Amino acid sequence: MELYENTASGLHTLFVEKKASAVEITTAFLERTEAVEDRVGAYITLTKEEALARAVELDKQLAAGEELGALAGVPVAVKDNICTKGLRTTCASKMLHNFVPPYNATVAENLHQAGAVVTGKTNMDEFAMGSSCENSYFKKTYNPRDLERVPGGSSGGSAAAVAAGEAPLALGSDTGGSIRQPAALCGVVGLKPTYGAVSRYGLVAFASSLDQIGPFARTVDDAALLFDVIKGRDAHDATSTHRELPPVAGTLTGAVKGLRVGIPQAYFGEGVDDAVKAKVMDTAKALEKAGAVLTDVSLPSTEYALPTYYILACAEASSNLARFDGVKYGFRAEQYDDLLSLYENSRSEGFGDEVKRRIMLGTFVLSSGYYDAYYHKAKLTQNLIRSECTRAFEDCDVILTPTSPVTAFKLGERTADPLQMYAADICTVPVNIAGLPAVSLPCGELDGLPVGLQLIGRKFDEQTILNAAKAVEQVCGVFAPAVL
Ligand code: GLN
Repeated sequence: MELYENTASGLHTLFVEKKASAVEITTAFLERTEAVEDRVGAYITLTKEEALARAVELDKQLAAGEELGALAGVPVAVKDNICTKGLRTTCASKMLHNFVPPYNATVAENLHQAGAVVTGKTNMDEFAMGSSCENSYFKKTYNPRDLERVPGGSSGGSAAAVAAGEAPLALGSDTGGSIRQPAALCGVVGLKPTYGAVSRYGLVAFASSLDQIGPFARTVDDAALLFDVIKGRDAHDATSTHRELPPVAGTLTGAVKGLRVGIPQAYFGEGVDDAVKAKVMDTAKALEKAGAVLTDVSLPSTEYALPTYYILACAEASSNLARFDGVKYGFRAEQYDDLLSLYENSRSEGFGDEVKRRIMLGTFVLSSGYYDAYYHKAKLTQNLIRSECTRAFEDCDVILTPTSPVTAFKLGERTADPLQMYAADICTVPVNIAGLPAVSLPCGELDGLPVGLQLIGRKFDEQTILNAAKAVEQVCGVFAPAVL
């Protein structure tokens, strides 16, 4: 087996047992990246030299007998909307093409403390708005399982990096599905933690009440490992939880005897491909064979989730993105006559079409004449969706659904019609609206393309969904890095 084919926990063990140095491990991933990156396009910025320097430092620390963290020696790719001190953080936007943060996001600090080696910053849809990675100002990312297809989005670069074996782990962010949907399309594991489980400090905000950072990995255990490293209270983020969050890594057995698995018909309806439904249901049946109890749960307001999400997300985005005005940082237009035209020209030239569409939609739903008709109604619907979920969890312990209604679609297939692109999130957005944790992992393939299965849990019960995910993994197996 090549070093790059190892899991993160396998690499960490090789490192601490001195069977492979951090330099050897890092070099293996850099070489793999060099071999495939021109076809995959997972990264906006590669940090080859910094990564090697970090690896040298880790090797020294190990030799000196210093205490090392849970990810010591393990390469990790980071989505380019997570601030990294001294390392360009663009959000895949012209607006931030030259932005070098003066500080680290808390999760970037966590990675450092844990001994990880950052390999670079990954491609994404501009400001995390999109489902295919085609809204990046810089480049396209190609699905490593089929290079004519999209990797999903918005964290498509992170998912592709892990699927291609360019990194064993990656961080993404998920506002309406941006970790889970690309994980599904690329055949890897992606976890959207409970809102408040992971600090958002240093994550460039899209929709602050929905955004969460989470891990990508090829195995469930690896996802748990990275989740443990980034979770917990952070004084810099008032929305991060005060709860004690016990470690998940090392607790996962995959035992599901007696586990009540809720199946909501609303997620298996129109718009979801029949073959995808069948694969997901086959896997549910396999869990039943392993001792789980399948039970119908009712989530009738799911049909309102997509419009609710796009109202709330756009409203928050229009407010969050007001800070990019060409004055304080980021892009500034060359031509302007006065302060107003400086704002107008910088924003017109600095933002791409999808971002502008969302700012206009958000400004509209928040405007005085329409606030009650749209924003207020969306907040009421959010309450409805939340209470239905709470009610459903009286009858089950996890909810099982498809992650994406379809397998990876072709590049360009949905770019002309924003509504068709938004429909890619139909199974993932309700989870963010309700603030719940959910994991996506592969449950087989159709025509050579991975199918994603989603497990949704109670608030702060990542342990149960990851344990059920481990059971799915035991049935369906792990996807090796793509053959490229
Ligand atoms: N695809 C969804 C959107 O475009 C979700 C994005 C995300 O989770 N960041 O808004």
